Amino acid sequence: MSIRARLTLWYTGILAMLLLLFGASVYFAVSYILLRQIDESLANAASVMVGGSSVSLNPDTMRPVVNLPSFSVFQRSNIYAEVVDPAGKVRLASQNLGDNFDQPLDVLDWETLKKTAAQDLKLSAFINTANHTNAPPLRVYTRPLIQDESGQTLGYLQVATSLEEVENARRGLFLALAWSGGVSVLLSALIGVVTAWRALQPVDRITQTAREILQTGDLDRRVPMRSTPTDEVGRLAQAFNDMIERLSRLFHAQQRMVADISHELRTPLTVIRGNLDLMRVIGSTDIESLDAMTREADRMTRMVSNILLLSQVDAGVLPMQKQLLDLAPLIVDVERSGKMLANERVKVVANVCGNAQVLGDADRLKQVFLNLVENAIKHTPDGGWVSIDCDPQDAKTVRIAVSDTGLGIPAEDLPHVFERFYRVDKSRTRVSGGAGLGLSIAQSIVHTHGGQMSVRSTPGKGTTFEVVLPAYQKSLTSN
Ligand code: ADP
Repeated sequence: MSIRARLTLWYTGILAMLLLLFGASVYFAVSYILLRQIDESLANAASVMVGGSSVSLNPDTMRPVVNLPSFSVFQRSNIYAEVVDPAGKVRLASQNLGDNFDQPLDVLDWETLKKTAAQDLKLSAFINTANHTNAPPLRVYTRPLIQDESGQTLGYLQVATSLEEVENARRGLFLALAWSGGVSVLLSALIGVVTAWRALQPVDRITQTAREILQTGDLDRRVPMRSTPTDEVGRLAQAFNDMIERLSRLFHAQQRMVADISHELRTPLTVIRGNLDLMRVIGSTDIESLDAMTREADRMTRMVSNILLLSQVDAGVLPMQKQLLDLAPLIVDVERSGKMLANERVKVVANVCGNAQVLGDADRLKQVFLNLVENAIKHTPDGGWVSIDCDPQDAKTVRIAVSDTGLGIPAEDLPHVFERFYRVDKSRTRVSGGAGLGLSIAQSIVHTHGGQMSVRSTPGKGTTFEVVLPAYQKSLTSN
């Protein structure tokens, strides 16, 4: 069964139960109150009739003599009255009962009643609903008539009224409650269906979109959304879209990477193949061709190991030997290598950073700084400067900046330099000769150390790459 149907059924079922409970309570409470009012008015009427009455036994006939001066008070109202002797015979009947009515208003077990009344004076009255054929039920109040002197029950006064009005009122109330309850349940079921349908519509859209993506493989499809989601289902749709967006970006990045790798590998392979063909044509080993092939083979080896390294970073399995490191000697080492690489063409200087310490892999961090220095040297014209500045920014971080006075990077390229295979100079004769992987590897290594990497550059003036690493804090690790 669908969630919609289940929700509606539960909702309507619970509402119907509550309405039934409410309706029954109202019905029985109103019935009880109406009957209580009738009982009270009958008891009052009986009291008025019994007031000033006398009950005695005729010594000659041994029949009870009942004197009820107020017996006629209610005769024209809707209250009926009778005096019944202990044998159940009607002795006195109010005129509104008509001449032919000679039955007690309520047929009771007179003998038992008499005994009980005699034994227990507390039983002063008895109330009951009596049914008569072809007439509405009567509510009958029976009160024993007791001889003052002997305390003997000489008869019963029965006061009654028709329950027709009460029955009508009850029937009307029942119908009103049943109708309003039924209509409410129907309406709520209708509203429930519409609400559940509307609330769960985005779920259908999510399912539909997921199916379409599955069938077509098109990761650019999204769940249509009109506005910012405010409810749970809307947020689910938003989360689904975000997830597909990320998957799509990853998928496209992977596709791009495969294309880039194939492209980058094709060039050295073409060079090697060309040189081999050349040697075959000339019929001897050409030393220049061999050198070119070696260079390309080295380039391929470098690129493949860089790709391997990046995939290890992506998979989170890059081997790291983190230890407490003094940055000063590491920077001095990088400066020395830089100087050798620059070969006096460019001036390389380092401002060593006191006793800054980090927790890291010495070889990997050296690889990062060396890569930055190498890039800086490559892109700085003769006579320029490359400086490595290291300063503990605060107790928590250490900043290492590699700046040059080189050509700089154009503003449009700046946001992309950390992307894989991104090169500013796309021509084959570019100065770097790399595959555009150096900076993305450096950034990945810095990230695995919990650090951040950024770049700023002014074309024509120079570039600064900045690495911020978390400083080693004694208090955090001493315990
Ligand atoms: P590659 O290995 O090809 O040099 P990188 O990822 O190291 O690739 O660098 C990406 C791009 O950023 C390169 O194409 C290079 O032109 C540019 N670049 C890197 N460092 C500098 C710098 N200091 N000055 C100018 N351009 C730079």
